[in-house]
Amino acid sequence: MSVHPIRIALVGYGKIAADSHVPAIRANPDFDLVAVVSARGAGPDGVPVFADLAALLTAGTGVDAVSHCNTPAARRASAIQSLAARKHTLVEKPPAATIADWDEIAAAQRPGTTLMTGWHSQANAAVAEARHWLSDKVIRHVSLDWREDVRKWHPGQQWIWDEGGFGVFDPGINGLSIATHILPLALRLVSARLEVPANRATPIAAQLALGADGWTGSMDARFDWRETAGECWRITVATDGGTLVLEDGGKRLLIDGTEQMAHGNDEYPTLYRRFAELIAAGASAVDIAPLQLVSAAFASGQRLVTQPFD
Ligand code: NAP
Repeated sequence: MSVHPIRIALVGYGKIAADSHVPAIRANPDFDLVAVVSARGAGPDGVPVFADLAALLTAGTGVDAVSHCNTPAARRASAIQSLAARKHTLVEKPPAATIADWDEIAAAQRPGTTLMTGWHSQANAAVAEARHWLSDKVIRHVSLDWREDVRKWHPGQQWIWDEGGFGVFDPGINGLSIATHILPLALRLVSARLEVPANRATPIAAQLALGADGWTGSMDARFDWRETAGECWRITVATDGGTLVLEDGGKRLLIDGTEQMAHGNDEYPTLYRRFAELIAAGASAVDIAPLQLVSAAFASGQRLVTQPFD
């Protein structure tokens, strides 16, 4: 623990801020939650709430770091603002709505300020083990299968259906963040097919083909928000040394059908431990590979109009 805890503020107080960020911050002695920014005026008991980040930054509340738990489309403005004010900055996934937005965020970073992309699915011990196991293997085929019921996991969330809201890629980018992290390959998009409800701006389902320069193997990825028979958050990697499967969004690792590791959810405590380490070291950790793949799918994917979604 540092002598002086890092005074941190949250921007956006929605589901993930309340469920995961606040408990992780409060359990970590390296941080002190000093403020929340919420346009709706929402926040945890006992923490001052500001209507916008500018009001917080000019209020005289000492803040060292800002964690952005707002929507991806809102993040460009808030992250640029916190970096310009020389605050250590952690951004939820996806780190920005577009690559152009991300480039503007990255350009706002000042020397001595930490910038971290918060890919929570990468923060699983089973994912770290998978990355290690795959590092000396020949990868033959990768299959990513990410299916869940949007009505169960995103009830009432309008922003995910709007431009910049990612649609089925909001959860799907978690799978891609694991794949880009564990595979010893620089993945690129080969083709994409996006199924977009007639009354929405973002896809309810998608299928991608991926490859890598010089790689003779192949990868397919399937994302579907219409799954009502439970969740499937699985990556299967066929290699010269056996078949690796990551289940449950990266919390369970199997090799050739034998379970190697299974653990509970420690994603956000791990992210905040890492954020504190980066701040102490004067370093940053930025990973844009998953956003590049999704942005490529939005830019070049074939769009099919499907049933309206209500
Ligand atoms: P949410 O419950 O809908 O909350 C969204 C937050 O963004 C609210 O706090 C709201 O702020 C702010 N916001 C700014 N512009 C908005 C707009 N136009 N419409 C609605 N809200 C707006 O969303 P969430 O599930 O917490 O997700 C937030 C981020 O965390 C997303 O990037 C998501 O991918 C990521 N995430 C979510 C989960 C999850 O399980 N829900 C898991 C991991 C990561 P105010 O407080 O100012 O009203």
